[in-house]
Amino acid sequence: MIENLPPVIDSCKLLLYADTSSDVEFTDRINLHVGSSDGEFIRVGEQPYLIIAQPYSNQDEYLLMFCNSSLETVGVINFASLHEAKLKAEKGYKGISDKWKPSPFTEDEVSNYLRDEYEVDPTSEWWKDECSFCEKSSGLEMLIKGTKASICKSCIESFASEINENI
Ligand SMILES: [Zn+2]
Repeated sequence: MIENLPPVIDSCKLLLYADTSSDVEFTDRINLHVGSSDGEFIRVGEQPYLIIAQPYSNQDEYLLMFCNSSLETVGVINFASLHEAKLKAEKGYKGISDKWKPSPFTEDEVSNYLRDEYEVDPTSEWWKDECSFCEKSSGLEMLIKGTKASICKSCIESFASEINENI
């Protein structure tokens, strides 16, 4: 097991992980570029860990994540199936198909992690960026998320002006 492996990474549930350091040959055949801070696109090179995870917000999607030694996601490709994600991984990292290990975490451990690290109620639909007051979910500015509810900027402003009017 990788030290500090998280059960949830970037709001996605960990399904499989692999260490690319031994018996895996980096072929550099995955053409993945990501934007860098200076606005340039850089090609994602060899990474020590690959993760396949599923977004809580879309359980028809599988993400192949390329992670650095701190388990930060350097690049991501999404797929419609686990099989396709594994095929792509094998294309860039020859031999990785034999290296995938399932997430070692129990459902309770995942729930505890969500509670402690994401500060959400794991039984709620916490991944929905939806304002609990106006129920809008797109184009929201400054959504503040609590354990049980979230609020958008326009609701905060309208509530604030109501409070000011009433005092
Ligand atoms: Zn709102």
